[in-house]
Amino acid sequence: MKQVPLLINGEFITSATDEFITVTNPANNTPIAHAPCATESEMEGAIASATHAFSKWKNVPVTERARVMMRYQALLKAHHDEIATLLAQETGKTFDDAKGDVWRGIEVVEQAMNAPALMMGETVENVARGVDTYSVTQPLGVCAGITPFNFPAMIPLWMFPLAIVCGNTFILKPSEQDPLTPNRLAELFLEAGAPAGVLNVVHGGKEQVEPLLTDPRIKAVSFVGSVPVGQHIYRTATANMKRAQCFAGAKNHTVIMPDANKEHVLNNLVGASVGAAGQRCMAISVAVFVGEAQQWIPELVARIAKVKPGLWDDEEAGFGPLISPQAKRRVLGLIQEAKEEGAECLLDGSTATVEGYEDGNWVGPTVFNKVTADMRIYTEEVFGPVLSCMSVDSLDDALTLVNNNPYGNGTSIFTNSGAAARKYQRNVEVGQVGINVPIPVPLPFFSFTGWKNSFYGDLHAYGKQAIRFYSETKTVTARWLEDDVPSGTNLTISLD
Ligand code: NAD
Repeated sequence: MKQVPLLINGEFITSATDEFITVTNPANNTPIAHAPCATESEMEGAIASATHAFSKWKNVPVTERARVMMRYQALLKAHHDEIATLLAQETGKTFDDAKGDVWRGIEVVEQAMNAPALMMGETVENVARGVDTYSVTQPLGVCAGITPFNFPAMIPLWMFPLAIVCGNTFILKPSEQDPLTPNRLAELFLEAGAPAGVLNVVHGGKEQVEPLLTDPRIKAVSFVGSVPVGQHIYRTATANMKRAQCFAGAKNHTVIMPDANKEHVLNNLVGASVGAAGQRCMAISVAVFVGEAQQWIPELVARIAKVKPGLWDDEEAGFGPLISPQAKRRVLGLIQEAKEEGAECLLDGSTATVEGYEDGNWVGPTVFNKVTADMRIYTEEVFGPVLSCMSVDSLDDALTLVNNNPYGNGTSIFTNSGAAARKYQRNVEVGQVGINVPIPVPLPFFSFTGWKNSFYGDLHAYGKQAIRFYSETKTVTARWLEDDVPSGTNLTISLD
């Protein structure tokens, strides 16, 4: 059985640990690799190597750092389908969806290529007589990233390319459920010319995360994953005086106005709700039908019922299995509870399976109607191919429902009314809003801006905010003396 190596100080090494987590094929739960739980001394090796590499990397000109990203982008593109194949095999995602995961990561690397322009500071000449003030952007030091299972290419690529191009070094602790893809990304990063120690990859679970949150040599922590872990990481990292940004769980609503284009709504809702088996933090898990729009529910159910789960390389498959038997048990438990609580099950995927792969973590598309805000299927993030339908009388009622929800990652509205769209966009307390676009994930020149319980911190992922997160600002106030030296002493705080 293949053991997943650690990347420490530019070398892929076999861990000396005797603790392993088995990586399985979610389509049949057969083991495909063992992820080591890095030992204490291997964690120390990664932190020491990143600290040492920082002293040199911070002095490499930003143009040279950006060129590493240019070579990296070309390599990722050249290996795009090969990475997507590996990713599909360890996550179960369909090949097309796996390609999307890789591609959306490459787009962030493309943003990192623009670092020289993004890192520019500000200047004001003559803020006082003969005095100029300017700001410069400098790296923080060693940064760490802890990533979830559901986007093993895109989410690591949200983090380390931008941190590193800003002059920092990085330690990545990817999800133990699919560590092969992040390792392949790291191999290609070395091939692109990243010096030893600039990127380190450690594997394991929460024991391996702890030193990244407490060691004083680590200056900033980026996390993406579930709410309880995000809260723990935010609290621990900030209590240890680190910068932290933690992207957490979600409950994303789409609001369907009766004046929307019905065809467009139905076509978009199918993929947005059950695509990737609902294992997307921006998946639409609640459809809120306003007024007459609720008459479209049966047609929506008929379209969703046509989507079948299947193997990653089956072109007919709409989505793959859930990541683990535990994830499947959790989703089946929530489906069962919703039935007991009185939600109307219009489509039940709880017994779905795939021939020849009966041991896989399959859950078929599932739709509930008449869901109420107190049911667990509504209050919990399901993270499965389950859509909850709710009906309200007006846009105001829809806004109240969405704003009362504790999550704030993404939302969308379908309407042909500019006024309704604008009212929704302006008043909804959610960080990313789609207008006739079901899943509004911004491209990397903007930032990924979840709110409320979907995000802890202030500066978000990628875009200009990431450059700020991974940098310090230094502000310089300078006076160069000419012939007329100011006379006398100044005992005030003003510049003259
Ligand atoms: P998870 O929280 O279980 O794990 C995420 C990472 O944290 C993994 O690397 C894991 O090893 C580590 N971890 C787990 N328990 C820990 C602990 N007690 N202490 C320290 N580290 C720990 O999340 P997951 O199941 O891998 O991913 C799914 C979750 O991620 C969903 O809730 C989803 O909404 C969320 N997510 C959010 C976004 C976003 O941008 N908001 C994006 C993708 C996924």
